[in-house]
Formats: sequence, structure tokens, C-alpha cells
Amino acid sequence: MYEMSLAEGVRAIVEDAARSQGLTRITAVVLEIGELANVEIDALRFCFDAVMQNTVAAGARLEIASVPGRGWCMQCADTVPVARLYDPCPRCGSYQVQATGGTEMRVKEIEVGRDTGDLAEEPTTRT
Ligand SMILES: [Zn+2]
Repeated sequence: MYEMSLAEGVRAIVEDAARSQGLTRITAVVLEIGELANVEIDALRFCFDAVMQNTVAAGARLEIASVPGRGWCMQCADTVPVARLYDPCPRCGSYQVQATGGTEMRVKEIEVGRDTGDLAEEPTTRT
């Protein structure tokens, strides 16, 4: 399952962050997921809960921040909104649209339990 490998990737990032920053408890993970990333959010939530068992993030809340899809239309020579990969340009109908945003998933924030509401910044991770 694709979502399982994504969840395992998130676990690796969370565990690295916990190790390097000496975190003992993570209460929430905020993920940015592009609308074009083709991620089943429900499946990802299920996998997240499963892979985080017996880690510092066991029982952590998973928060999803959706990133809108964007593409470069060759005909319009402009950036246009893209609802789904391989959709035509919403302005001119051309299929020569190259996705430029909303295809990635990254860990945006990790919330730690030690100090309430404290957020640790994480580096961008592309899938
Ligand atoms: Zn266009």
C-alpha cells in the first residue's frame, strides 16, 4: 500500500527529529499534502496510527494541511490551478499542463508534549 510507505517515511522523519532534539513525546504531526499527490487521507491516517505504535509519537494526532494543485500551461504561458493530474487547463482547455505544485507531501510541524503547544520546525521532505 502506497500510504503505508508514506506513513513509514513520516515515522522516520519524526524519529530523527525526536533523536536530534531530545524529544520524548510527540503529540501531533502536521503534514502538508498536495491535492495532486494522490494520497488517500483515510488510508494514511490508518497507516499512521499503525506505524507510530511503540514510538515517541504513539497515539499522536495527525493533522493534514492540504496544498492546492498548480500547473504551468504552455498555451497560456502562465500558472493555472489544477484540480487533478492530467486535467486540461481550466482557461484554454490545453492538455499541455505541467504540474508545478501540490504534488508533494512533507512534514510541516511536529508538536511535542514536553512544553504544551511548542512546535518544532522540520526540513522539507519530498516523496
Ligand atoms: Zn491554458
